[in-house]
Amino acid sequence: MNPGALVLFSGGQDSTACLAWALDRYARVETVGFDYGQRHVVELQARLAVRARVAREFPQWAVRLGPDHLLDITAFGALADTAMTTERAIEVTDKGLPSTFVPGRNLVFLTYAAALADRRDLKVLVGGMCETDFSGYPDCRRATIDAMEAALNLGMEQTFRIETPLMSLTKAQTWALAKTLGGDPLVAITVEESHTCYLGTRGTRREWGYGCGACPACELRRRGYEAWTRDGQPVLTP
Ligand code: ZN
Repeated sequence: MNPGALVLFSGGQDSTACLAWALDRYARVETVGFDYGQRHVVELQARLAVRARVAREFPQWAVRLGPDHLLDITAFGALADTAMTTERAIEVTDKGLPSTFVPGRNLVFLTYAAALADRRDLKVLVGGMCETDFSGYPDCRRATIDAMEAALNLGMEQTFRIETPLMSLTKAQTWALAKTLGGDPLVAITVEESHTCYLGTRGTRREWGYGCGACPACELRRRGYEAWTRDGQPVLTP
């Protein structure tokens, strides 16, 4: 039987591609998001906007798209206390990690997601972790994800699979994947509805979407889009 999937869905570019990837493959797809005290409700709004537009423009996916779950993990956010959750400046720390790094964030996300997937009888967890263009986050590495998968399956007596379709893709290739999966309409949804900017600014509509245009997340998104466009906006076989 085709297993159901739970997508870790933040409403950003990467998780939008992951959502489409899962809807293309699995008959039942649900989404989970985490409110860990983000500075900006704009991210949480983007999640709903992306989901709504995907359902509206892709009827073949709408029938597969199940409920969204928003989990409150603000206690973790308070503990982590970094630039993501307080007004500290975004900078590089002495460990060489950006101050936006929340220690173990993906481990916490995956643990919550797995507990939810158990309750919802979903066997596949899909996350947008990526070790190619990644910002130096150790919990984005596939080795970390493999260890986590083993720990969750042992600790929950489960047979979860954690899929990370973006793991080896560049940001340009993530745009190409969106084009493959949903053509221009999915690219348009990604540009117009998904939110990546660390500062939570919608700002001006640029070619690659909304955002402050200056933070590391906007920078990565812009460069990926420009590289993809420079290559003639290719598609990518997933
Ligand atoms: Zn920004």
